[in-house]
Amino acid sequence: MTATPAPELGSLAAIAACVRTGERSARAVLATSLERVRELEGDLHCFNEVTIEAAEADADAVDRIVRSGLDPGPLAGVPVALKDNLCTVGIPTTCSSKILAGWLPPYDATVVSRLRDAGAVAIGKTNLDEFAMGSSTENSAFGPTRNPWDLGRVPGGSSGGSAAAVASGIVPLALGSDTGGSIRQPAALCGIVGVKPTYGVVSRYGLIAFASSLDQIGPFATTVADAALALEVIAGHDPMDSTSLDRPAPSLLATLHDGVSGLRIGVVADFLSEESECGDAVVSAAEALAAAGAKVDEVRIPELLLGLPAYYVIAPAEASSNLSRYDGVRYGLRVDGPDAETMNARTRGEGFGPEVKRRIMMGTYALSAGYYDAYYGQAQKARTLVIRAFEAAYQDFDVLLTPTTPSVAFPFGSKVDDPIEMYMCDLCSIPSSLAGHPAASVPFALNPEGLPIGVQVLAPALGEAVMMRVAASLEASAPRSARGPVTP
Ligand code: GLN
Repeated sequence: MTATPAPELGSLAAIAACVRTGERSARAVLATSLERVRELEGDLHCFNEVTIEAAEADADAVDRIVRSGLDPGPLAGVPVALKDNLCTVGIPTTCSSKILAGWLPPYDATVVSRLRDAGAVAIGKTNLDEFAMGSSTENSAFGPTRNPWDLGRVPGGSSGGSAAAVASGIVPLALGSDTGGSIRQPAALCGIVGVKPTYGVVSRYGLIAFASSLDQIGPFATTVADAALALEVIAGHDPMDSTSLDRPAPSLLATLHDGVSGLRIGVVADFLSEESECGDAVVSAAEALAAAGAKVDEVRIPELLLGLPAYYVIAPAEASSNLSRYDGVRYGLRVDGPDAETMNARTRGEGFGPEVKRRIMMGTYALSAGYYDAYYGQAQKARTLVIRAFEAAYQDFDVLLTPTTPSVAFPFGSKVDDPIEMYMCDLCSIPSSLAGHPAASVPFALNPEGLPIGVQVLAPALGEAVMMRVAASLEASAPRSARGPVTP
């Protein structure tokens, strides 16, 4: 099965420009997006819920602001999809888990308020691997999302619903969360742009926690400029998140097209295995950047390979603590029993899926008294080695290039029964998560089967501006056919 190019909704700036001048109503833009939902949602299953009434009310509010002569903001009328681990007041937020059944958040995540304040119109909550644990969206309690490039393949994960909604042209913008790659990996598998910002740049108030030392929120879009605009809107200090950096949102668009001339770019050789089509794309990307004036060299950073095993101790350890709040009392599902302990156990037994249980058990084990030093302590040391190795590499390079993923989108069922195979999907995305650095995936090529391949641009902390410049340059040299939107 192959995908065909789909009509684009237009850039975020172009949509907002029409809505701001009243040339096109937000309601009309929304109608286009909802029409596409009707056409494709049955095949793709991007959404846990499409919030038509709330979206219509928001679009009408934008149109009223325009009519009153005021400015609804830089994303006026832009339809957006939200990963279903972002709290939305009065709208179910499930993390694609049965354990949150019936729970209605009492507040909006800060990113949700910021999008609305900028005029964006949220159309629904997107599917994910339960509690964002996974790389294929197959761990959702509500069934998987399909990849619009090939309905027999996964869209990646955990933010697979958000990625597929953008890649199929349902929305031009979606938000995801990224703990070890959950924005970048599905972006790569779906042929779109995905950005994980520096830890602390985007508020996580209202993001349901997975691993708090790693979680970040970021955008999915079809172009680098759209992702940059969205990031400018959602970034910036938030007193409601104690890990939010007390500094203004980064300015990205102003320098986006400054080019790469003179930039020092390192190609991480440790991630270029022989006979890998994703590795080949990175080599071509490096050549394109060199042709555009960058100084490109290979660099070996073997410590980055410690990232994956360290992450799969640290992230489950943090998750085992964060998920202890789902006890049958405070949120969602309760399965009763004769005493509190039995009620807790039954609720968790029925409410959590197998991967979430596996993570809680791994994390609890790694933190237990006899094993703490051997597992959690060691993993933290490995994390420090990753951070130091990056520090050393960034003495010589402004940005680093790797594949985003070891392979293109894989068929359903091919990895889900083998956790280690699934975890390997995150090999290249995890190191920058452990370091808290920004990273972006840019669609750069198609493999012989017509499936998209992403190239990852890594930068040091707060290096978003230079990272996005390199991403824009890569995008300019990539074939247009390598990116969404597509129709399955
Ligand atoms: N695939 C990784 C995991 O399963 C990353 C998930 C994420 O970034 N949320 O933990």
